[in-house]
Amino acid sequence: MALGSFCLVRQRKPVNRWARAGVPEFFPNWIVMLRLPGLPRRGESARAPICDLCLAVEGSPTVARPDCRCQRPAREFATELLKTSQHLWRQNRLQALRELRGGRRAAPALRRVQEVYMANLPERMKQSGRENWNALLSIVEQVTGLSPEAVLELPISCLSKQLALDWMRLRQAYNADLSKPEGERRSWGQLRAALKAGELPGLVIDVPLPGNYTINTMLGKAKSIAGKKSRSFYLNALELPDLSGFCSVSRLIARHGHEALERGVIAKIEEQAAGWRKTNVDLWIAHQLMSRMGLRPREVLAARRSWLEYEKEPRFRPAEAGAGWILVVRNRPEENFWQKARGKAITRRYVVDRDLAAVLLRRRRKPWLFAPDLAPTGRRNLIERTLSKELRRFLASRKGTNYELRKHYISTIYSKHGREAAAAQGGHATSETTEGYYATRLGVLPTVTGAELAG
Ligand SMILES: [Zn+2]
Repeated sequence: MALGSFCLVRQRKPVNRWARAGVPEFFPNWIVMLRLPGLPRRGESARAPICDLCLAVEGSPTVARPDCRCQRPAREFATELLKTSQHLWRQNRLQALRELRGGRRAAPALRRVQEVYMANLPERMKQSGRENWNALLSIVEQVTGLSPEAVLELPISCLSKQLALDWMRLRQAYNADLSKPEGERRSWGQLRAALKAGELPGLVIDVPLPGNYTINTMLGKAKSIAGKKSRSFYLNALELPDLSGFCSVSRLIARHGHEALERGVIAKIEEQAAGWRKTNVDLWIAHQLMSRMGLRPREVLAARRSWLEYEKEPRFRPAEAGAGWILVVRNRPEENFWQKARGKAITRRYVVDRDLAAVLLRRRRKPWLFAPDLAPTGRRNLIERTLSKELRRFLASRKGTNYELRKHYISTIYSKHGREAAAAQGGHATSETTEGYYATRLGVLPTVTGAELAG
């Protein structure tokens, strides 16, 4: 006698969350009801959509048109499921059977979690959502040494407290190495080996080490994905394991406030950067937008031709500045661009100097002002890898690289024109943010290279 049986049931209600927002991928789809003696009945989605004709059948949801094509994949799925279940049942492997039947599903892979998270994130939060994922994936990548692709296949249960603590230790050791000459710094592989061998120093939690701020920021971003809000609003469709260990890891003590760059560093960078205009004009543009206007890297990436405006009578114009071209940074829903302080309608206006304007205007037919001919990854790499690496040579003792330019710019404004002006030019939500990070008055005052202040 056959052990157990199955029937197909028409799904009546859609589940309200989908991998792709608004795309009900399989609804209505066939549900497989499996019967095995001694086991509770529970429907399992066959992920096979029901055709219109089968849907139109009236009466019980188990009544189906005989042998319609749309049922074939569902039947195949059900047959397979029944076969595996019978096998486990005969071997008395009830635990495995329960897991198979969805009693305790395996944790979804990071790729799936990412898919669902990004799909359910409100449009205006997608940029920061991507940043959160970049942080999370880098953390796992740095601890495990796996390739980005392989990391995405890991189950989300890999986000443990231990993983967070290991990463913080690795990262502190990595930061400590930054003050050494390039040849003496350890690779991530060497750092991981040292951690495994128990040779890395313990986590330093009572001293505000340089780099702790970045550790906090990255971990904070990663934690926001595993956190309560994300789980109840964005990851609602997934059954997730307990991630509270990962989320409970505390922030490190970090020193706030930007310290002035050592004397002459900016001049050296400028000297180096001047050459890029000939050798790599996109690199030059990125550097100019960050050092003259303090743009964030992601603002450089998002900047389009539409951001350039011509003002016949600029309200502000340094004597040497060009023809009245202004770069306007504001929320642009039509381009799906949002500033970091996204709730606020902040508009920042920067004078574009003649030399920079000349280069940018040549790109008026291109989609982007920065690196319009590169693919998205190439554009990002040019800033996050190439420019960072170039700057790192001058900023060896610093945790940040690209951001140092922005900070330097804002600090300069702060020192010359005060807090409100710095907040406005930096695009901070409140001037408290500015106070928090730039309160250190600069001992070494740089000259402002290009843009001057409004009004
Ligand atoms: Zn059908």
